[in-house]
Amino acid sequence: MYQNPDLHCHSHFSDGTLSPSALAQMAVEQGVDLWALTDHDSVDGLAEAQQAAQALGLAWVSGVEVSVQFLGETIHIVGLGIDTWHPGLLALLAANRHCRIPRAQAMAAQLEAVGIAGAYEGAVRYCQAPELLSRTHFGRFLVESGHCANVAEVFRHYLTEGKPGYMPPAWASLADGVTAIGAAGGLAVLAHPARYKLDALQMDALFDAFTQAGGRGLEVSTSAHHPHEISHYAQQAQQRGLLASCGSDFHSPEESRWRLGELPPMPAGLVPVWSALPISAD
Ligand code: AMP
Ligand code: MN
Ligand code: MN
Ligand code: MN
Repeated sequence: MYQNPDLHCHSHFSDGTLSPSALAQMAVEQGVDLWALTDHDSVDGLAEAQQAAQALGLAWVSGVEVSVQFLGETIHIVGLGIDTWHPGLLALLAANRHCRIPRAQAMAAQLEAVGIAGAYEGAVRYCQAPELLSRTHFGRFLVESGHCANVAEVFRHYLTEGKPGYMPPAWASLADGVTAIGAAGGLAVLAHPARYKLDALQMDALFDAFTQAGGRGLEVSTSAHHPHEISHYAQQAQQRGLLASCGSDFHSPEESRWRLGELPPMPAGLVPVWSALPISAD
């Protein structure tokens, strides 16, 4: 079985800064023995990722991180082992990407109103295509232009609910996102559950809706989780019969706290998500 899987990270095909090949290289150097690239709402980096993994002898599984909404909150669902050509999943991802452009334009207009000009063009310079524009790219522009010291500060001051620069997104519904991953033969994993601003009742509703739509896994060990949250969600995975997943959510050497493979081990007694995945290891 795998000792150090990392099933969540981002390349420059979404809001990471490295190429899929560079990430595969880093994964091997860091001792990762099973790897998935999970870009936001895009599978465009997966062909390069698979090729690089194969060349390095690194076990690999296809992945994506789908943005969805539930109770007005953005929720991220990692899809693992997906068929990357499935028309229904590709259509859902395309719709999610297309709503990023008007959202980014509205964010830039709000930032302009508080005296920050040129944010749309500035953010676009950090990404491959406008339809991939994320808040992270705005964050990098606001740091570059001297408005904030780092990306975390940008989020606090500008890019979260109630702040100038925040625009509610129009992602697919939770049920549609989870269903599309399942229809594409993938396994849906609820990403970084501790990060959602939902109370206990709402979290229960989220778990219920997720499993009813066919969701199968829960991210237990991830850079967004403190040790007590890893323990809490390990219990939740056991109680709810969910497969346990882990991933660094690595974005860039400059911004991410943890590199690929730098994950605390998962608590004992969990059924790992990779026991149910089609893995290409040759
Ligand atoms: P978006 O898909 O445009 O809503 O952007 C979401 C991305 O922003 C996440 O995937 C993270 O990479 C990044 N992000 C969210 N919150 C923060 C934060 N507080 N500090 C730094 N990056 C964040
Ligand atoms: Mn991101
Ligand atoms: Mn996420
Ligand atoms: Mn992520």
